[in-house]
Amino acid sequence: MPIEKHVTYCRICEPLCGLIATVEDGRLQSLRPDPDHPLSRGQACPKGIAFTDIQNDPDRVLHPLKRNAAGEFERVAWEQALDDIASRLRGIPHDEIGIYFGNPAAFSYSHALWAIGFAKGLGTKHLYGPGSQDTNSRFVASSLLYGSVVQLPFPDLPRTDFLLMVGANPLVSHGSAVCAPRIKDHLSAIVRRGGRVVVVDPRRTETARAYEHLAVRPDGDAWLLLSLLHVVFAEGLADEAAIARQSTGIDLIRTAAAAYSPEDTEAITGVPADDVRRVARDFAAARSAVAYGRTGSCLGRNATLVCFLIDVLTLVTGNLDRAGGALFSRGVIPAEDIAERAGMASYAGAKSRLGGFPDVLGAFPAALMADEITTPGKGRMRALIVTAGNPVLSVPDGKALSEAFGRLDLMVSIDIYVNETNRHADYVLPATTWLEREDYPIGVSSAAPTTFIQATEAVVPAYGEARPDWQIIDDIARRAGIGMFHIGPLRRLAGLTTKVPIRLTPRPMIETLLRLGSYGDRFGLRRGGLNPRKLRENPHGIVLSEHAATGRINDAVRHRNRKVRLDPPEIAAELARLTPYVDADFPLKLIGMRELRSHNSWQHNAPTLMKGKRRHAARINPADASAAGIVDGAPVRIRSRYGEIETVALLTDEVGPGTVAVPHGWGHEGGSWKLANKSGGANVNQLMSTAIEDIERLAGMAHLNGVPVVVEAGEDRRER
Ligand code: SF4
Repeated sequence: MPIEKHVTYCRICEPLCGLIATVEDGRLQSLRPDPDHPLSRGQACPKGIAFTDIQNDPDRVLHPLKRNAAGEFERVAWEQALDDIASRLRGIPHDEIGIYFGNPAAFSYSHALWAIGFAKGLGTKHLYGPGSQDTNSRFVASSLLYGSVVQLPFPDLPRTDFLLMVGANPLVSHGSAVCAPRIKDHLSAIVRRGGRVVVVDPRRTETARAYEHLAVRPDGDAWLLLSLLHVVFAEGLADEAAIARQSTGIDLIRTAAAAYSPEDTEAITGVPADDVRRVARDFAAARSAVAYGRTGSCLGRNATLVCFLIDVLTLVTGNLDRAGGALFSRGVIPAEDIAERAGMASYAGAKSRLGGFPDVLGAFPAALMADEITTPGKGRMRALIVTAGNPVLSVPDGKALSEAFGRLDLMVSIDIYVNETNRHADYVLPATTWLEREDYPIGVSSAAPTTFIQATEAVVPAYGEARPDWQIIDDIARRAGIGMFHIGPLRRLAGLTTKVPIRLTPRPMIETLLRLGSYGDRFGLRRGGLNPRKLRENPHGIVLSEHAATGRINDAVRHRNRKVRLDPPEIAAELARLTPYVDADFPLKLIGMRELRSHNSWQHNAPTLMKGKRRHAARINPADASAAGIVDGAPVRIRSRYGEIETVALLTDEVGPGTVAVPHGWGHEGGSWKLANKSGGANVNQLMSTAIEDIERLAGMAHLNGVPVVVEAGEDRRER
């Protein structure tokens, strides 16, 4: 069979870089960056290229697996697996069935939609995802400010003169909650045109090293932002006209910020007052400026407040909804609009069974999962479906969660590997990879400074017996008599789909949205508009507008008066109780970090990414190490009030005294991934708390940054 070249795009993270797949006899031979992609222009990162290892990984799950009486997995036929799962689900009340979907679901046009549709069909509160370990505080800040969880302002990178990044490391992450291929070029261009890039982070990250760095102490972001606002107001630098035009409730912020002069907060933030004053003045004076926060800003004890204040800084300096500032966008495929209309874009529409946490996009804090399984009472979670997720490594206290799985009546996983979570499952069902499915960009792709769309077909047929995640979820639902999408206007269809042989499938649904969207052809009514044929004729994608639109605030803000609300009572309460979190027994503060060749917990079995004897290591300041008798490269034990781990010490001044940085997603054991199991390391989330009082109130965020710890010399188990 001839060698084929297929144009496609990567679906691991936000840039969605263009790729060329070489395929022979239905098997992937290699992935290369696509030189003709209009935005990524021949660039892709090691994770995208190394996906060949994962696609062809002999450790992949390619057939349905069932746990036998001896506790081992054995191959089983699809029909048998689906029938048994459905029949067992039929015996469990719908509100006691849960679903957890992992991060890869967000990069598929169908997966998250079907997972949420399944939960809505059940009417269960047990919907969990990565958001409570990653982004939900950002969504909640949007809900409070703009009246919509799905309106996420993003930085206008190609036009800004001042980019202030809080807890973001785009030279490693390649941009999160913003879809901007070649983000490094964007940052360099800001400096080249005379602008500034300032990184607020406790660690001198790869991005901080390349630009300016404000080394804030872990969990000090709220105080730093209030001090920046303090200077803006105290020195008359605010854009009062923009504030009056775009917002209501500024008095709350003005009054709160007055109490946080940079001199007062210096002891908490660790940032010299003069530096804060200088940055505030320069930010306000810049021709255009934008404050942008990412994962690091979402994981502290004041996560929603921090996300809120980041946008406030942009607004009060007159930079919201203007070129070079923060922009709102509407997806080319208007999935957000539909989510809002269908009632899927909810915040605080329901409360969790334990702790009374508000839902965010229908989901609840994943840190509660273990207790939701083990705490008796109506609505206790008795069955769980996990799709493309590994919560044992991604939520606090994975050991407790692993133990809790034993109390489930049924656990089903849809995945490409047996991992630390689904090794406890009754069934592991093989899912297709992103190269084995067609796709359209929805969700994150709307946060794009350049409006662009690309569609792709599957570039290889499904390996083995793998099936698309949406189809597996749908098959389970149909056999178990669960009506999918029991939400809003789709409710009527829900009942119908279980009774008559019609099947909602993602492709016609999304293609209809594409054609009805802002750039769509309206089924022939708009000449030159987008339709599936046009996308097929332009396989490298189409740039629809060099710059995302400005002047969208009236459309984006959903509050009745169309103004940004700066004084919601939830934020007033957060400001009133803002207190530094200290634990005298655990004087150091731990933060998480990303690595260039890791993506959460699922790429440590790719030999290309694990080359060079990669090791998990805790970054410790030499002064702290010396005080604890720890030497470089030696084992270190890290203890918190909730657990302890052992890994290797990497002494470095990239973290200041008092800060320890540990990569997440390590500590593999017991899965099918042999190389990952051998890679060592520890699960940093074992140090984190699942206690209700430690979960952030507004967004249900796990407290993963600024966690009080101590470090001690570990036991040297190396062979002598
Ligand atoms: S940056 Fe993200 S989208 Fe681009 S190649 Fe790497 S993993 Fe894929």
